[in-house]
Amino acid sequence: MQLQENQKVVLITGASSGIGEATARLLAQHGMHVVLGARRTDRLELLAAQIRAAGGSADFHGLDVTDADDVQTFVLAAHKQHGRVDVMINNAGVMPLSRLDALKLKEWDRMLDVNVRGVLYGIAAVLPLMQVRRAGQIINIASIGAYTVSPTAAVYCATKFAVAAITEGLRQEVGGDIRVTLVSPGVTESELADGISDEQARAEMKEFRKVAIAPDAIARAILFAIVQPADVDVSEMVVRPTAGH
Ligand code: NDP
Repeated sequence: MQLQENQKVVLITGASSGIGEATARLLAQHGMHVVLGARRTDRLELLAAQIRAAGGSADFHGLDVTDADDVQTFVLAAHKQHGRVDVMINNAGVMPLSRLDALKLKEWDRMLDVNVRGVLYGIAAVLPLMQVRRAGQIINIASIGAYTVSPTAAVYCATKFAVAAITEGLRQEVGGDIRVTLVSPGVTESELADGISDEQARAEMKEFRKVAIAPDAIARAILFAIVQPADVDVSEMVVRPTAGH
C-alpha cells in the first residue's frame, strides 16, 4: 500500500466498535490512513474492507492493549510498513461498573490494565518514534468520569482521572515537539455498558445512558484536534449530550 507523502498515518486502539470505529471511518473519509487495533479481528477486517470500499485507506492488526509487547508490535509494524506514525489514539477502554463493596477485584484489575496500562503502553510504543521526528500527536480518550466520581464508578473514574493526569504530564514534558490531546466523551452510544456484570449498576447505567450522542460526535472532535496546524495543540476537549451527562 503506497501512501501519499502528506497522508497522516493514524493508529487507533479499540477500533472494533463504538467511538474507535466511528473515528476510523471519519478520519479515513478525510484522507487519513487508519491502522485499526483491537482483539476482535473479524470486526476489524470487515471495517477495513468497508473503509477501502468507500475509497479510504486502512489496515488492521490484532491487538491486546494489556500486553506491552503486543502494543509495541502493533506500532512497529505500522511504522515499518508506512515509515511513520503521525497520530496514536489510545481509545480502548472497558467499564464494568460496580460498588466497591461488591469486591469485584478481577474487574478492577481489568479496568486498570486496559484503561491505564493500555494507554501507558501506547505512549511507550510511539513516544521514541515521535521524539526522533520531533513531531506527532498522541490522543488519549478519557471520560466525563475524569472530572467527577459517582457510586459504582469509583475504579472506572480512577482510571480516567489517571488518563487525564498522564496526558497532562506528557503534554508538559514533550509538548514542545509532540501534540498531546485529551478527549473526554460524555454518554455516547457504544457497547461500553454491555460489560457491566453487576445487575444494579447495569440498571442504573441504563437510566444514566438514556440520552446519548452518536459516536460520530466524538470522532468529529478527534478530527478537529488532528487537522489543526502543527503549531496548534488542542489539549483538552469534553463532548457530551446537550441534555444529558
Ligand atoms: P466500546 O465498548 O464500544 O469499545 C471499546 C473498544 O475497546 C472496543 O473496540 C474493544 O475491542 C476495545 N478493547 C477493550 N479491551 C481491549 C483490549 N484489552 N485490547 C484492545 N482493545 C480492547 O466502547 P466505547 O467506544 O464507548 O469506548 C471507547 C473509549 O471511550 C473508552 O476508553 C471509554 O472508556 C471511553 N468513553 C466512552 C463513553 C461512552 O459513553 N461510550 C463515555 C466516556 C468515555 P475488542 O473487544 O475487540 O478488543
